[in-house]
Amino acid sequence: MAVQSLPDGYPQFIERADGARIWDVDGREYLDLMSSWGPIVLGHRYPAVEEAVRAQAVAGDCFDGTSPRMVELAEAFVDLVPYADWAMFAKNGTDATTLCCTIARAHTGREIIVVARGAYHGAAPWCTPYPAGVTAADRQNLVYFEYNDIDSLHAAIAGIEDRVAAVIACPVRHDVRREQELAEPQFARALRETCDRIGALLVLDEVRTGFRLDARGSWESFGVRPDLSAWSKAIANGYALSAVLGRADLRDAAGRVYTTGSFWFSAVSMAASLATLRVVSTPAFESNLRAAGQQLRTGLLAQAEAHGFRVRYTGPVQMPLLTFADDDDFALGNAWASAAINNGVYVHPYHNWFLNAAHTPEVIEEILQRTDAAYAALAGQPVAERGLLTG
Ligand code: PMP
Repeated sequence: MAVQSLPDGYPQFIERADGARIWDVDGREYLDLMSSWGPIVLGHRYPAVEEAVRAQAVAGDCFDGTSPRMVELAEAFVDLVPYADWAMFAKNGTDATTLCCTIARAHTGREIIVVARGAYHGAAPWCTPYPAGVTAADRQNLVYFEYNDIDSLHAAIAGIEDRVAAVIACPVRHDVRREQELAEPQFARALRETCDRIGALLVLDEVRTGFRLDARGSWESFGVRPDLSAWSKAIANGYALSAVLGRADLRDAAGRVYTTGSFWFSAVSMAASLATLRVVSTPAFESNLRAAGQQLRTGLLAQAEAHGFRVRYTGPVQMPLLTFADDDDFALGNAWASAAINNGVYVHPYHNWFLNAAHTPEVIEEILQRTDAAYAALAGQPVAERGLLTG
């Protein structure tokens, strides 16, 4: 059985990676548009990050106490993210989202967390999308609303306003198996206002978006700042690290929550994060990533049209998803992904992709040459008929 439920042709084991490329155990090369499902934001084995990792590894990684890298990194995050007055670190995104909920409950003395239906916040019993091993008690203090629908939030909390500890949301609706949806600015602002009105905290789950859309915080351009946020994936360009950032008045609650982990204080990933943060906070990084995303979008849409496919290209260009019209079971999307992997491009049929800084204009051009071949291969297959422009 496949490790992940990916279409035919996907490699199960990856041997090595460099820049925008990965190689499987059989030596086949792929141009990587998944960026390890998010963690790689500067490209695989980015030299300045690898250098910082090597230097830290020589001094040691896992000590009796934390290394000074933790303080340096917390200060760097606080300098970068306007609403953050402190930072704490863990290993996985699930650690960070769960910690945000626990801190919110410790601070407010309330129990309920309000969650967008279908959003992914991790693999713990409170948030896993799968029911195995989850009890009703694990979900007892959760209520759900529809993303981008403020009326549904108001309906969800009606009569329980004074029991809500926090509302947690992602900056973009990037749920799997559906078109991606940007947050409407008025929705983001209404979330902020509602939390303020009822005395609840706003938690932003930046695990997938962090360092890709706006390193200062994905809703910064909307003028919406959360009270707490959870980060992971890209923050150390592939090394295991997550972070919780928070406002000054939550420091006490964060300090009271008991939390630790065997490897949470490892210095190597923090050194990697410091080196990553230096790059992602530059304007050139952000504009190049956006331009690469735009180039890919324009090219893939033009190719779809040229080959007669009706497609939807949704989400931010740095984290896009390509889906096919009238393809609810993703048969066509799977077939296109299979054709892409056979032509040496690693994409996903129903989970958003992640661009990284190694996607230079030349690399995007190379990707597009290969995806053109993928569309051409698909156009020759019977499964394509349902998505064709003309009958
Ligand atoms: N939140 C979001 C938005 C995520 O995308 C993920 C991981 N895909 C998580 C939380 C959980 O992160 P992790 O898998 O590192 O626990």
